[in-house]
Amino acid sequence: MEKKAYLLFSGGLDSILAAKLLKRMGFKVTGVHVTSPFFERDTEALKELAEKLGIELKVVEAGEDYLEMLKSPVYGYGKNINPCIDCKAYMLGKLKEIAENGAVIATGEVLGQRPMSQHLQAFRQIEKLSGLKGKVLRPLSGKLLPPTVYEEEGLIKREEMLDLKGRSRKRYPEILKELEVNLENLPTPAGGCLLTEPSYAKKVKDLMEHGELNWENVKLLKLGRHFRIGECKLIVGRNREENRRIEELAGREDFLLTVPGIPSPTALLKCRGEPDPKVLRTAAAIVARYSDAKEMDRVSVSVKRDGKLIKSLEVKPLFEVEKFSVTA
Ligand code: SF4
Repeated sequence: MEKKAYLLFSGGLDSILAAKLLKRMGFKVTGVHVTSPFFERDTEALKELAEKLGIELKVVEAGEDYLEMLKSPVYGYGKNINPCIDCKAYMLGKLKEIAENGAVIATGEVLGQRPMSQHLQAFRQIEKLSGLKGKVLRPLSGKLLPPTVYEEEGLIKREEMLDLKGRSRKRYPEILKELEVNLENLPTPAGGCLLTEPSYAKKVKDLMEHGELNWENVKLLKLGRHFRIGECKLIVGRNREENRRIEELAGREDFLLTVPGIPSPTALLKCRGEPDPKVLRTAAAIVARYSDAKEMDRVSVSVKRDGKLIKSLEVKPLFEVEKFSVTA
């Protein structure tokens, strides 16, 4: 009977090595890549990589349940707002849903490589949370870890696995050679995890504090400068491309602000309910401050909603923006 393995596949070096090792152990490998706006990789590069490695690839999008988990992870956050243990368990849960009965579930995790999620206790917590106790094969460190059910059942042998440990990559050239991996021929799907970045984490926390954490709002976090004015959120584009994206992502209830006839950002104002006129004026003054008219005493800012001009506001550009800034 064909041996099958489902591998959590980020496209990073360790998942490449794990895929090759599992193949050498006689498995037909399916790489499962979980994606979300928080940790996006180039899917085309991932597909090409999987093809070159001779494995199948399945891409799964993180759903609303990921956001629920992010609000209160059982094992808390790392340095920023990265809930690594719960996140890994979430991803393995997705893999479990996909995996066929009797298939091995595996990751490219290395013991002791990452402080929060890659030590023995964390491995146990991840398995417990995902309902996969003793069922997660970590072949890169397999020789150093307690036996999994697969080993107990005789499906794999301890000596077929590696004994990688810690952050050092000293042994990697030798292992790459042994597994016949030539990195020069492989695409590298770039991308890290935004939840580990301090200023991005502040923006996520702001959404949480205001009960606005949903995927629609998360998609806006990568764009522009973010301000909180009363019950409204203002996102000010930093360049032409961001202005275009902001305009595209504006909902029918949102406001779009700009300084007409002058190089100026496009800004999106999202409010819960109708905004106080003072909030609109502050938003307009911030937009004026980032326009080419910032040295002028009075600037006319247009406010549109659902494609229609609803107001023109005469404002003085506001320079003291820190108290409104979400990332300050
Ligand atoms: S770094 Fe990001 S993607 Fe990786 S486990 Fe942590 S939260 Fe998840």
